Amino acid sequence: MYSGVPVEIPVLRPRLPSADKLTPWLRSIDASRYYSNFGPLCQELERKIADHAGAGPGGAVTLVNGTVGLQLSLAAEGVDPGDRTLCLMPSWTFIASASAAWQAGMVPYFVDVDPVTWTLDPRATVGDVVGAPGRVGAVMVVTPFGTPVDPSPWEELREQLGRPVIIDAAAGFDSARASSCLTMISLHATKSLGVGEGGVVVSTDAEAIERVRQLSVFGFSDDRVARLRGTNAKISEYVAAVGLAALDEWPQTRAELAALKDLWIDALAALPSVELAPGLAGPWQNTMFNVILPGPWAAQVKAHLASEGIDSRQWWGLGCHRHPAFQGCPRGPLPVTEDLAASVLGLPFYLGLTADQVGRVVEALGRGLKKLEG
Ligand SMILES: *Cc1c(COP(=O)(O)O)cnc(C)c1O
Repeated sequence: MYSGVPVEIPVLRPRLPSADKLTPWLRSIDASRYYSNFGPLCQELERKIADHAGAGPGGAVTLVNGTVGLQLSLAAEGVDPGDRTLCLMPSWTFIASASAAWQAGMVPYFVDVDPVTWTLDPRATVGDVVGAPGRVGAVMVVTPFGTPVDPSPWEELREQLGRPVIIDAAAGFDSARASSCLTMISLHATKSLGVGEGGVVVSTDAEAIERVRQLSVFGFSDDRVARLRGTNAKISEYVAAVGLAALDEWPQTRAELAALKDLWIDALAALPSVELAPGLAGPWQNTMFNVILPGPWAAQVKAHLASEGIDSRQWWGLGCHRHPAFQGCPRGPLPVTEDLAASVLGLPFYLGLTADQVGRVVEALGRGLKKLEG
């Protein structure tokens, strides 16, 4: 696949707060001499993210990364690692969803997504749970690339099935709304609100959030006695400082992402056979720009773009079930996943990308497609 042509337009270039924007927060760490363990900056960041997600007091807990956030969410919901029950999840997700379930002591059970929404369908899930090749211990819903999923049918389903439902909204900082389901938002550099490495779990269920928090601090509650089998997944005050600086500039970042997205959508009008990912044009902002090609040509188009110095990415690869480490996990029929894996491509999208560069990508994409459309 490597074309040998130097990359002139990368697929993503994260932009986190500058050193100047960090300085006031770093000075406050000097003054407090608090470096970790839910210090003042961490608490402020959690309060602000809980507010942003509509979670209410105590509705957010920060973690070292989103993957661990998913893992501890499953544990907080009572999944017993000794049981190795199935975690029903879409194969159409980033591999971290599967890793987290495995690390929580579960076996991923990959099912297909709805072709229109790219996410699990609550009604189909009822049948998938009943027909699963083993006991389903939890369901993991994934919001595709920050396009929100309505949590209410999932809250109902959790009651109906009597098993936990957690939501992987890794890319959903801008759109995620807290519900009674534990919902993970990644703060990785490549996601909307980046701190480098980090994650947060939000919920309107403050008790469940408190259990995630305990699991992130050796299973301790107020005393130093482990009541849960936890780990150490706390963020440092330095990470919280980056998060607070990123939140300060979020309105600006968000406006720039929106403007870039509009520019892209206008430019793509030149290629009517190329469709936008579901919800991409919606009123929420994200750092990934996926399109659906008019044929199963993601790999070929990626190679063509590379030959013109343009990087692109199949963000979710060929689906989790195709990764060697997880291909032995049970799965249902996956025709939609296979179809999306072959036809979805992430195009260059980052702050600083110019209108000229977008135009260049669209022209290159047009040339690549012309070869394939014959
Ligand atoms: C990024 C991502 C994760 C993992 O988040 P990290 O903070 O990088 O651990 C999990 N699931 C999905 C869908 C993601 O996109």
